[in-house]
Amino acid sequence: MALPEFRNEPFTDFSADAGRTAMQEALRTVAAQIGKEFPLIIGGQRVTTKDKFNSYNPSQKDEVVAVCQKAAAEQVRAAVAAAEQAFASWSRGPAEERVAILLRAADWLRRRKFAAAAWQVYEVGKNWAEADADVAETIDHLEFFAREALRYARGQVMAPHAQEFSDYSYLPLGVVAVIPPWNFPLAIPVGMASAAIAAGNTVVMKPSSDSPANAYVFLEALEAAGLPPGVLNIITGSGGTVGDPLVQHPRVRMVAFTGSKDVGLRLYEQTAKVQPGQRWLKRCIAEMGGKNAVLIDEEADLEDAVSAAVVSGYGFQGQKCSAGSRLVATAPIYKEVVEAFVEKVRALEQGAAKDNYFCGPVINENARKKILEYVQIGKAEGRLVAGGEPGDGSGHYVQPTVFVDVPPTARIAQEEIFGPVVAVIKAKDFTDALAIANGTEYGLTGSVFTRNPEKLALARRDFFCGNLYLNRKSTGALVGVHPFGGFNMSGTDAKVGGPDYLLYFLQPKVTAIKYR
Ligand code: NAP
Repeated sequence: MALPEFRNEPFTDFSADAGRTAMQEALRTVAAQIGKEFPLIIGGQRVTTKDKFNSYNPSQKDEVVAVCQKAAAEQVRAAVAAAEQAFASWSRGPAEERVAILLRAADWLRRRKFAAAAWQVYEVGKNWAEADADVAETIDHLEFFAREALRYARGQVMAPHAQEFSDYSYLPLGVVAVIPPWNFPLAIPVGMASAAIAAGNTVVMKPSSDSPANAYVFLEALEAAGLPPGVLNIITGSGGTVGDPLVQHPRVRMVAFTGSKDVGLRLYEQTAKVQPGQRWLKRCIAEMGGKNAVLIDEEADLEDAVSAAVVSGYGFQGQKCSAGSRLVATAPIYKEVVEAFVEKVRALEQGAAKDNYFCGPVINENARKKILEYVQIGKAEGRLVAGGEPGDGSGHYVQPTVFVDVPPTARIAQEEIFGPVVAVIKAKDFTDALAIANGTEYGLTGSVFTRNPEKLALARRDFFCGNLYLNRKSTGALVGVHPFGGFNMSGTDAKVGGPDYLLYFLQPKVTAIKYR
């Protein structure tokens, strides 16, 4: 089976009539569906529970987007059993069959990309371009991992031996628990789950309680593509309730998590503990938070650099693990950078995601409260020069906020706020700026703006982060172009969308045959 070379799905141009009209129509179509109920998916069966919970529209906080089932340990066990049963046949089928299903799912989604984006607009408050990019990344994951499955299915060629033939092949692991966050509500669940499925594993997915409806877009795509029952099971409910029974289940072979540092560390510890009846060491990938720096040097193109810093800091309200939540500028241009940055941030417009404002709401009331608490902390640590107030009360809005003259060790310069708050820090020089950039427990993304090649080379060597961008914003990683994952407390650096990712979901086996 030969596939054309992987290419990223193009983004929609919403400045053109065709893109705008398609999106408006999709928003109307999906508006008529929001509020519907989604069942648990266990072995292909639709299962409902007595207790339910809702997801809400962050732009219009009382609007229910999805009614979901509150699963308990019993349903988790049933889902793991269904996944294990499906594994027996799914793991043994040819890679070509898995690949064909993933490609059909990609095609299904490509034809419904505006509707898929509209679910994100309503459920997590993404503006059109952000939602469209998430759907494009999702299509990329399906296409990319399909190709990777074929590549790994070829195995490796071993060194010749006079009396033996040695064969190196990759086997799937078993049942993979997939636990995604809400902020890329389709791309991240699909990234982890489609890699697991492409490799021949089966999945029990627990979507984020803030974005469950989006997980069902993936299910719909895979079912339409012919995925056998039991290969993808979906269990909704709070992480606190269903997390432990899922992660600790002795028949779960691997946990693929993306989310906060606190939850990630908990799962990392839990997977290390061998449970009664468990016959393997569980594998765990945990991709976690960031406190990323955008570094602007006096030899940078300031207009470019400041514009990129604004997009890095406030795109999707700063709710990206890759967000540039620290802006570090060197002393000679510090004042100029601050003035230009603050002017641009003050000009950002905020409003409902469906109306396509650059800045929408944050995800929920807890996030809004937490961000405003950090604003109070920041007032004692730096100088508030923009925002700092809640926005329109109909949704979970927080104004785009800038603190300047922030010491590098301040809490707002060290802790992930995950909202539209940027701490601006002055560095003595480029070397000092790099030390500041490296001076947190995280190491996810980094951005450096300078035209000086020696400084770029220095950054390349010394900026310790998983995804380093030179003269480019810190967000917007593309599958296959910028495989993604961070260092230190940003996680296991599994590099989703890259050539090593599928290996996490596989185990190599060597078979040597002695000639007569
Ligand atoms: P989160 O609170 O850690 O939740 C992530 C997932 O874990 C959700 O599905 C959540 O379920 C579940 N969960 C919570 N407690 C659990 C437990 N005790 N056991 C098992 N699962 C549990 O993170 P989030 O707020 O959704 O996402 C934002 C975070 O993700 C940020 O820190 C961001 O930097 C990080 N992130 C990292 C990357 C990366 O690639 N490095 C990418 C995107 C986001 P409930 O929703 O039911 O609580």
